[in-house]
Amino acid sequence: MKITEVAEIPPQVELKYTAKGFIGIFARQNFSTGEDIYSNIYRVLPEDSDIDLITPLGTIHIDMKVHSVKQNNGLRDYYGFDSFMNHSCDANTISIVYPGDEQFNRYYNRAVKDIRAGDEITANYLYFDWDCDGHSFDCLCGAKNCYKHIRGFKDLDFASQLEHIMDIDEATLSKFVVACRDKLRGAELTTAARARVQPLL
Ligand SMILES: [Zn+2]
Repeated sequence: MKITEVAEIPPQVELKYTAKGFIGIFARQNFSTGEDIYSNIYRVLPEDSDIDLITPLGTIHIDMKVHSVKQNNGLRDYYGFDSFMNHSCDANTISIVYPGDEQFNRYYNRAVKDIRAGDEITANYLYFDWDCDGHSFDCLCGAKNCYKHIRGFKDLDFASQLEHIMDIDEATLSKFVVACRDKLRGAELTTAARARVQPLL
């Protein structure tokens, strides 16, 4: 399927090149910790979709394997301009789905640190990508807690996975439960994590 479309970029952010020469998303204003930066809607598209995205930096061909997240049945979640969000192990945003928004595929990117105008906005891919199919990579983010090899939540050791149960999205949580059901049943979890996992066990 051939798609050509204009990137709809919220005015509070912009696409720019990073120091390493990749396109990234940058803040055009300050944001405080806890503030929602923008919302976006993802679309579920076939893996062989051929997308040209028209952006202020030119028309960019979107490689579906690199810039989208694999779900099931040969389909992938495609994020439009938000495909350019780069990973950091010490990311300054998380994505949030408000109740009722699931059906519209709408999510918000929320600041989890104070962000200044000009800062790059980053996300931790491990929280929403089970296996980083098509885009696993060695991370150069430089964070103290850098995971080095980013191969999705699936690739973390079980103790680290337990630590981040409250950070991952629903799709990743479902896959985690399917993969580790028995271990999760016997695991020591915080009350909040237990409440989140229990209905799926
Ligand atoms: Zn890193």
